[in-house]
Amino acid sequence: MSTFKQEPHKLLVIPGPIEVTDEVLYANAFPPLAHTSADFIPIFGDCIRMTRDVVFTSSGQPFLIAGSGTLGWDQVSANLVEPGESVLLLNSGYFGDSFADCLRAYGANVDEIRADFGKAVTQAELEQALQNKPYKLVAFTHVDTSTAVLSDAKMIGETVQRLSPKSLVILDGVCSVASEEIRMDAWGIDVIVSASQKGLGAPPGLSIVVASQKALKVLDNRITPVAAFYASWRRWLPIMKAYENGTPAYFATPPVNLIRAFHTSLTQITKANISLEERFQLHRDAAKRVRSAAADLGLKLVPVDPACTANGMTAIYLPEGLGVADLVPRLAKREVVITGGIHKENKDKYFRIGHMGVTVVQPERGDLDRVVAALKDSLQEALASKKNV
Ligand SMILES: *Cc1c(COP(=O)(O)O)cnc(C)c1O
Repeated sequence: MSTFKQEPHKLLVIPGPIEVTDEVLYANAFPPLAHTSADFIPIFGDCIRMTRDVVFTSSGQPFLIAGSGTLGWDQVSANLVEPGESVLLLNSGYFGDSFADCLRAYGANVDEIRADFGKAVTQAELEQALQNKPYKLVAFTHVDTSTAVLSDAKMIGETVQRLSPKSLVILDGVCSVASEEIRMDAWGIDVIVSASQKGLGAPPGLSIVVASQKALKVLDNRITPVAAFYASWRRWLPIMKAYENGTPAYFATPPVNLIRAFHTSLTQITKANISLEERFQLHRDAAKRVRSAAADLGLKLVPVDPACTANGMTAIYLPEGLGVADLVPRLAKREVVITGGIHKENKDKYFRIGHMGVTVVQPERGDLDRVVAALKDSLQEALASKKNV
């Protein structure tokens, strides 16, 4: 065990990237391994297996590819949709808009059900859309990081299976994997898109996608060629299978250091003293704590319905008269990094706090206490500064 300790730094509590453990950061600092070496192959293979565990799938195929979360949208769009095919997108914020743009870039015909700001698309709206038209894919953002709205993944999976069993269900879990419960097989989710730097607790730079066997069959049955090179699953599938089976293969160099860091983080998540269920509960508890701190300060949440509110992050309205620039730098001065809004219309009216990963599962670090105290002090200072003007 190394005695490595990371530099003192401001507490990073935005909705990703997040704080990483010393072990994860130290793994990233390991001298690079040859990607085809006997030392590296089992690390990559384990990452593939542990990724399955995090989302409760036995037969889903993980793709671990250098890139940010956004690359997952390209993978879905390039591999699973042919030009002119229809996609239904349940839009609960900024990331829904971007996913739709990505799908359209590959020629998909995207119909959106747009929820009002702070709300999720309802089951009735989804049912109506599915009854009107057949869709190749039904895509949604599990936690839209712009609003902290949590969509009901189980309901969406079951509703699509019931009314449109041929459609593939695509879950953008960049901001939810490892902080929210996701049961890929049981809920009928066909693709989960994620990334290393949010709930999965590693530095940014790794795109993590898991595709069901049904999704891979859709790829097999394509008529038109996959209109991508780096994002083509036809190129990556043999690589992932080879590494899992203990043999090297090459298409493009994997980020060996990041994979090692991801391996450490996945080990801490899936083989730690707490179960995944306990991890999810700790995230629920943390979210409750942050929400009640906001309520104590007289602040309102962006999500309208408590049942549709994320557990890995919180979005909170500023009081009347204050903007993001009045609050966020004051927390930074107190060594706590939060962030403003990103939703188009309201981005200066609210702020966002991430509470995922080590910040939540190691309460002895005292991260949440620091966040709540810094928020209270900064808010008081900001309000007082306005009175003096
Ligand atoms: C962060 C995020 C993305 C984009 O991920 P990048 O790593 O920034 O490319 C996509 N969807 C959601 C829900 C996100 O939170």
